Amino acid sequence: MPVQSNSTKRLKLELYGVVQGVGFRPYVYQLAQQFSLLGFIRNDSSGLHIEIEGESFKIESFLDTLTKTPPPLARVDKIQIKEIPTQNTSQFEILQSSVEDAPIQKYVMPLADISLCDACKDELKDSTNRRYAYPFINCTNCGARHTIIKTLPYDREHTAMAAFKMCDECQSEYDDPMSRRFHAEAISCKKCGPQLYMQGRKDKDGECVKEFTQLIKRGNIGILKGMGGFHLICEAANEQSVQELRKYKNRPAKPLALMFKDINAVKQYCYVSDAEEELLLSKERPIVLLRKKQSTCVAHGVAPNIDILGVFLPYSALYEVLFEELEGPLVVTSANLSGEPIIQDEEEVLEKFSFLENSVLTHDREIVHHCDDSVVMDVAGEKITLRLSRGYGPKSLYDTSLKGKKILALGSHQKNTITLAFGSNIILSAHIGELDSLLGFDSFVKTIEYFKKLYNFEPETIVCDMHPEYESTKFAKEYVRNNPQVELIKVQHHYAHALACMAEHKINKEALAFCFDGTGYGEDGELQSIWGGEVLKVSTKGYKRHYHLQTFALLGGDKALKEPRRVALALLFNSYTLEELLKIQHPLINSFTKNELETFYHMSLKGINAPECSSVGRLFDAVFALCDCEHKISYEGESGLILERLAHENPTSLAYIYEINDGVIGYKQIIDEILCEKNSALIAAKFLNTLVNIIIEISKKESGLPVILSGGVFQNRTLLEKLINAFNENKIEYFIQNNTPINDGGISLGQAYYVLKQ
Ligand code: ZN
Ligand code: ZN
Ligand code: FE
Repeated sequence: MPVQSNSTKRLKLELYGVVQGVGFRPYVYQLAQQFSLLGFIRNDSSGLHIEIEGESFKIESFLDTLTKTPPPLARVDKIQIKEIPTQNTSQFEILQSSVEDAPIQKYVMPLADISLCDACKDELKDSTNRRYAYPFINCTNCGARHTIIKTLPYDREHTAMAAFKMCDECQSEYDDPMSRRFHAEAISCKKCGPQLYMQGRKDKDGECVKEFTQLIKRGNIGILKGMGGFHLICEAANEQSVQELRKYKNRPAKPLALMFKDINAVKQYCYVSDAEEELLLSKERPIVLLRKKQSTCVAHGVAPNIDILGVFLPYSALYEVLFEELEGPLVVTSANLSGEPIIQDEEEVLEKFSFLENSVLTHDREIVHHCDDSVVMDVAGEKITLRLSRGYGPKSLYDTSLKGKKILALGSHQKNTITLAFGSNIILSAHIGELDSLLGFDSFVKTIEYFKKLYNFEPETIVCDMHPEYESTKFAKEYVRNNPQVELIKVQHHYAHALACMAEHKINKEALAFCFDGTGYGEDGELQSIWGGEVLKVSTKGYKRHYHLQTFALLGGDKALKEPRRVALALLFNSYTLEELLKIQHPLINSFTKNELETFYHMSLKGINAPECSSVGRLFDAVFALCDCEHKISYEGESGLILERLAHENPTSLAYIYEINDGVIGYKQIIDEILCEKNSALIAAKFLNTLVNIIIEISKKESGLPVILSGGVFQNRTLLEKLINAFNENKIEYFIQNNTPINDGGISLGQAYYVLKQ
């Protein structure tokens, strides 16, 4: 119980964390009214500034409520409280933001876009409401943020909404401290806000939406300007439309995401656990990977050869409005060419998809930053993040134990993200993507520029991968050349994977990290090789490579990544001579001509265009090729997804024999046994069981050390499920990233964390 006293005092409060644009000011205003307190509240570029004056016990109650139940989207990392002289203020006010006195915009966290809230959704569907069917309805608790913010502090004039002058009605809601839209910076209505357009015509009474949905129903492909970029849309049941859409996107097989009308519709097509339902309905509204039911009318082309569907629900009013006219499910996928970032400009979309120019439903609000849809899954109670973007990103991790210098970590080459660290803040960008394409690299550079400007940030240290050919590494080197005062640090790829997990879970002790991945630049003293099947003993100070997969050659270098049978062949070369191999009757070996076999054999022997590699990701490719040698890989992870589907079909607990000698995990017997087996589902299941056995055996040997799982291989749902069960049965403590990407999207976080901890 606070001591009751009639003495009056005045406190100055400074709040840091996610405190702007989340309804803090109206909330505090209403609290001040409730407790009859005076003073003011103001956003400034370092956070939130409150001065509160009144009777001491009322101030106590105010503070108590404020700290225990902040607004739903807020996250308070730190409050500084100082008593100052009373000023006999006459009221409580919301003051204009101040931008002066802000040497560094330290603590203001970036804000992610939040899906339509229930209150707004009710208004959207209420024909008597003035925002009925208005596709840009929002309030303090929902709507676009990251995609419309140009600079901080988060005020309308610093957003894409600055172009729209509020009408009188919106203004009065904005000014009314009792309204849900009090100081909602993106407030708008049919009269004053953004409008839809189709074929150059402004929408009238929803006719554009009607026209667009008619076109979809007729089997056409439409383009829609969403929150963070343009989406390609078609009916998921229409095989022909799906194939056409794939052709436009130049994406032959990689699964396409589906948007459903509501959760009940999802349940007709997919198995949905409670945890998955929660993810689907969460305010972030990510794409959730679900196992599909056998009998669905989704076109085969949506997710060929796999039994997982990426599913999400309408996240903005615009999608809700579409589903008033459509049953769905719809294919909703970013409008871009495969490998490039999602398109945010109308001009670009019309240029690249000119043949669809009459099928574009667009609007007149600028997208300041493009943003993809996030992808997550739930595996045995663990949330796994595969892509951190809309709703989640940019993401801030706040760790008061850290007081580092200004660090810019540049991440990986694939699934790139960047991380900024300063003070106690670590900020992980949203998904940037592949840096192969010019557009991808451009987006990478723009993100760096934006973050630097937003936080008034000049890095003292730049961190990058060791791979000399990564565009991010080249950028780092160039940066340091031009800014010689900046220090450059390189962190080994798989160590960075482990560090990302350590950063998320604040692991400060030694741990045993299983970094099972695609390929990453290794560190073998003089000899450079490609890693990806490493067991590292890690701490934040360094790592030691304890175990690794027996190496094999990538025949033809990058060509082997597209043609898994080459990887399988390389594994065979590790055990058999050419003569022995020619005697083995197996479809894989028969798929090569004798000439090819001879050439590859010599490449492998002499190491010509055949770099050595220890990647588990590639081992998946090899096993997959032994099941189906004709298949060419069209996207990263395809072999894993197909093996996972196969393994799921076979509940066996059998496994292959493997050997571990001197820290080398050998697979000779695994491959020998597979050569004699014909049932693909059995092979897949036994292979995954074998990996589980290997991980459990090594974990037990190093008992006492907590285990870290990181790297792209652990995106394999069936493997992870089996593994988590085995850890629990064996009472092994393990850590896995839940809220940061477990794949290369987490690399920049690990890199930054390493430097922070030195
Ligand atoms: Zn709302
Ligand atoms: Zn209005
Ligand atoms: Fe990786």
